[in-house]
Amino acid sequence: MWAELLPIGRSSASGGYRRYAWTGADADCREWFRGHAEARGLVYEVDRNGNQWAWLGDPAEGDAVVTGSHLDSVPDGGAFDGPLGVVSSFAALDELRSRKAQLDRPLGIVNFGDEEGARFGLACVGSRLSSGQLTVEQAHRLTDEDGVTLARAMEAAGYDPERIGADRERLARIGAFVELHVEQGRALDLSGDQVGIASSIWPHGRWRFDFRGEANHAGTTRLGDRRDPMPVYAETVLAARRAAELAGAVATFGKIAVEPNGVNAIPSLVRGWLDSRAAGQETLDTVVREIESAAREHAQAHGIDLEVVRESFTPVVEFDHALRDELARLLGRDADLKVPVLGTGAGHDAGILATSVPTAMLFVRNPTGVSHSPAEFAAEDDCVAGVRALADVLEGLARR
Ligand SMILES: [Zn+2]
Repeated sequence: MWAELLPIGRSSASGGYRRYAWTGADADCREWFRGHAEARGLVYEVDRNGNQWAWLGDPAEGDAVVTGSHLDSVPDGGAFDGPLGVVSSFAALDELRSRKAQLDRPLGIVNFGDEEGARFGLACVGSRLSSGQLTVEQAHRLTDEDGVTLARAMEAAGYDPERIGADRERLARIGAFVELHVEQGRALDLSGDQVGIASSIWPHGRWRFDFRGEANHAGTTRLGDRRDPMPVYAETVLAARRAAELAGAVATFGKIAVEPNGVNAIPSLVRGWLDSRAAGQETLDTVVREIESAAREHAQAHGIDLEVVRESFTPVVEFDHALRDELARLLGRDADLKVPVLGTGAGHDAGILATSVPTAMLFVRNPTGVSHSPAEFAAEDDCVAGVRALADVLEGLARR
């Protein structure tokens, strides 16, 4: 399964992946999912928001156990973020069948659409729509960098954008959702464990900073006469780093747009996107407030207009404690497999679902901690341990 997915959307230059929602690479991934669902005799369906489901047993019975993740990627992403969870789901099902496991509850595998938000700037669109955390009106306002709306993109990929919207009845049939994911940090590497259980997802958000100055000639405009937004932006980036460091949080300006974007032109606009996350809401508020106030101070000193817009926000997610304890108990049967419980700064569909469904996450060790990059990696042994852990969990949960 892994080898089949590997070439899809892969750049020959960097080895990284570009599997944006509703593009050709995404369609190939989705075709792969459908193929594996059907090859196993599972009931395959696509919901109104384009999320793919594969069922063993009848979900209408309710109290279903569901596992899965996503297949889309960030720009130049790694092979594991998302696909490891989906491949492991099918592999865990195969493992359960070879064990002749007794499954009393319906078992589902899901591929959530557009998790990374790489194309339309909002993460977890598929799960947000289904859970009602993204309204139809908001979804219809989403556009990609070429001005293509989400609706158009879905239509071009063969889906009906008029059907999108909350799908609470479907989610109400799920008794437990478990997402397996490659770890996006080094906690497991440092503790020497192959698999861990998630405790919480840090609150996180994205803010757009628009610094507006005045375009002018880079050769003839005296420094004192300039209204150059770039140094102000640079000061803001440094302030973000300092504020995050002091608070034990993270803050990143990873995307920037410059107008007119010429080597010999002073910019008229620098637009930078801040991504910030912290273990607690108060800390995050403080960090973002400090960054914004530093930006305003420097903007004022340089005659730059500043507008800050919060583009998205996800509050802290505490995973269901009872389910988390149940996972620890199920995995604890194997004395060799210790299961540390860890928090994460990365968002996931599991975090979105957690507001409506008892939800848990399993992490698989990532030796470098690198993710959202072609260097993202998990060793085969660890991936196999992840599949076994997932199979143990699903078997334990699916037994009444
Ligand atoms: Zn992911």
